[in-house]
Amino acid sequence: ARAAAAAQSSGPGRTADGHEVPLLANIGGPHDLPAALENGAEGVGLYRTEFLFLDRADAPGHDEQVAAYRAVLEAFPGGRVVVRTLDAGADKPLEFLPAGEQQEPNPALGERGLRMMRRLPETLDIQLAALAEAERDTGAHLQVMAPMVTDAADAEWFAAAAAKAGIQHAGVMIEVPAAALRARHIAEHVDFFSIGTNDLTQYTCAADRETGGLGRFQDPWQPGVLDLVAASASSAAEAGRTCGVCGEAAADPLLACVLTGLGVTSLSMGASALPLVRAALARADLAQCRAAAEAARAARGPEEARTAASEQLPALA
Ligand code: PEP
Ligand code: MG
Repeated sequence: ARAAAAAQSSGPGRTADGHEVPLLANIGGPHDLPAALENGAEGVGLYRTEFLFLDRADAPGHDEQVAAYRAVLEAFPGGRVVVRTLDAGADKPLEFLPAGEQQEPNPALGERGLRMMRRLPETLDIQLAALAEAERDTGAHLQVMAPMVTDAADAEWFAAAAAKAGIQHAGVMIEVPAAALRARHIAEHVDFFSIGTNDLTQYTCAADRETGGLGRFQDPWQPGVLDLVAASASSAAEAGRTCGVCGEAAADPLLACVLTGLGVTSLSMGASALPLVRAALARADLAQCRAAAEAARAARGPEEARTAASEQLPALA
């Protein structure tokens, strides 16, 4: 039993029958690396770079960015590091932009994420150049993704900017329902998807993630959200692309199994959740994960989806 427990607290993510699901860490900067390593992260699935840019009068320069990115890449030699380009706007305003430019009546529906970078392409170019340089000689596998991508034109624009900077693997976050529905077209332009279930839930259910009290509309178990995850994962598979999840949903052990059953290929989460998710996957067969996913999608609401999924995964109870 002790050996089994040890096997679950480290080692790669896989189901009981050996289907591999890499387990990665969400980090906000190099300060989160010790926890990621202690909890056996196989790499980084979401590096939220906005923390470098917030609460300061000037944007970070090239050298400062290279140092921050390099510290993360060096922690995972041979591993994967997925860096998200600046996701400012909405709940993350930038001080160094002219005052007034960011005052929008509905910031979550405004110029955030990649939309803001399309207006400030120099800021993005500096970040991409710093990332390309940071990867050099680290031995890590750098993947760079854009937040708040809405359509194939966004994906094409970002992929071109990344290629111009010398980035070899560009991807997009799927957090807007239109992107999930049209993932097949987006896949033509990028190497990978990463589903941001926090925003995808907010936009699918039209429920502000910053406001409490909206109950079941803020629940990633909503079958409508699961349908969009399934659509994204199957479009990715058809195009030969990977499709991870990096929202909070990945940290729920039962939902992690359901996501695996929906065809998600990696799971990224706050490091403290890694051991429990690793242990849950180790107790479930891929066929059970698929049955749980199907049962959850057939449910009429999030609570029913949870119950239906857990009935298919008795070993997790
Ligand atoms: C998400 O939206 O699910 C996500 C991972 O990004 P963030 O929470 O930083 O918006
Ligand atoms: Mg998001």
